[in-house]
Amino acid sequence: MSDDTPLGFETRMIHAGAAPDPATGARQTPIYQTSSFVFQDAAHAARLFSLQEVGYIYSRLTNPTVSVLQERVASLEGGVGAIAAASGHAAQIMALFPLMGPGRNILASDKLYGGTVNQFGQAIKRFGWGVKFVSFDDTDAVKAAIDDDTRAIWCESLANPGGIVTDVEAISAIAKDAVLPLIVDNTMATAALWRPIEHGADIICSSTTKFMSGNGTAIGGIVVDSGNFDWTKSDKFPSLTEPAPEYHGLKFAEALGPMAYTFHSIAIGLRDLGGCQQPQNAFYTLLGLETLALRMERHCQNAQKVAEYLEGHAKVDYVSYPGLKSSDYYDRAQKYLPKGAGAVFTVGLKGGYDAGVKLVEGLGLFSHLANIGDARSLIIHSASTTHSQLSDADKALAGAGPEVVRLSIGLETADDLIADLDKALSKV
Ligand SMILES: *Cc1c(COP(=O)(O)O)cnc(C)c1O
Repeated sequence: MSDDTPLGFETRMIHAGAAPDPATGARQTPIYQTSSFVFQDAAHAARLFSLQEVGYIYSRLTNPTVSVLQERVASLEGGVGAIAAASGHAAQIMALFPLMGPGRNILASDKLYGGTVNQFGQAIKRFGWGVKFVSFDDTDAVKAAIDDDTRAIWCESLANPGGIVTDVEAISAIAKDAVLPLIVDNTMATAALWRPIEHGADIICSSTTKFMSGNGTAIGGIVVDSGNFDWTKSDKFPSLTEPAPEYHGLKFAEALGPMAYTFHSIAIGLRDLGGCQQPQNAFYTLLGLETLALRMERHCQNAQKVAEYLEGHAKVDYVSYPGLKSSDYYDRAQKYLPKGAGAVFTVGLKGGYDAGVKLVEGLGLFSHLANIGDARSLIIHSASTTHSQLSDADKALAGAGPEVVRLSIGLETADDLIADLDKALSKV
């Protein structure tokens, strides 16, 4: 093997970003549970503060455990840099912060995680940021919705609550024509199943809470920059192209090239928004990443078996899983997700609301809770929980009608999951 042979995905899951601890030789990445770092001398401190030298100052900005996570996820997604955040939702604000300003808007898919619909539809208005939700299956509508104030295009690769696969190449072509960055939330697929940067995405934004950590243990998020977007091609991104007064007039794009967005997100985003990831959580997520591809393979195999079983059940109306031939997204899943169509999908029950409630209450192995991407199998009846405040019409639009349950298939023995569902469905 020559020195420049790129390392395989599984090797990078375990080694990217990490080395034995220089101080102690510890082989596993230590949890650097410290708020701050001692400077070598006054000149060293001054260089760090003026960005002339990269190093550790204070854990709101950078932390050695968190840095390993950042390097590892950047490597797995095929990016040049990454910024970890306190949660997936904190990562989303971090991802948008260098691009947006009052009066600017995000063009977003109308098929997004419910929490993101709230964040984009309500919370960001207070920053003066707007959003336009459009069906990303309608490329003409996507093109038509771009205006002079649009600063980012946003979608999920595999959309939560499941079943929807975005045509990332088609959307990327539109983004490139408009000279706008395409941001893809890759939480549901992870880099083990799909690397959207290889299909033209500019920035990846994911919750590490889900499959990356993989045990329902630690909340976190991460933003990965491909380094491919040229911020200087227009005057739309002044945060990256105009002088930053607090850094002596530094122009991030000019001075840092492909690392501009990553450095801006640390030096300004983390500094001022403060949504850093905890070293302890980064450590748990690093443990999860060591087995990511193995787990995703089994998650998908189990999900495929359970989806096929449910599709054939008399009390089930439909199953929205792109691994099934009946799915409108089956062909796209074959193209973008050859290793498996993920592990989260929705099921429509013939018996409506009461059937949904009976099913979640009748299950033993599945836990009824609001999360996905755990080693344990999970279920939620959206209409009586996450979406209960919506009108019936809005529930239906969100894919959370009274008959819908969302499943996140874990790593248990598939036959045991099917037996559990079979028993619960018999009581529906
Ligand atoms: C959970 C989730 C988020 C939000 O992540 P948190 O870590 O819960 O803040 C964003 N996008 C998708 C697709 C998710 O599933």
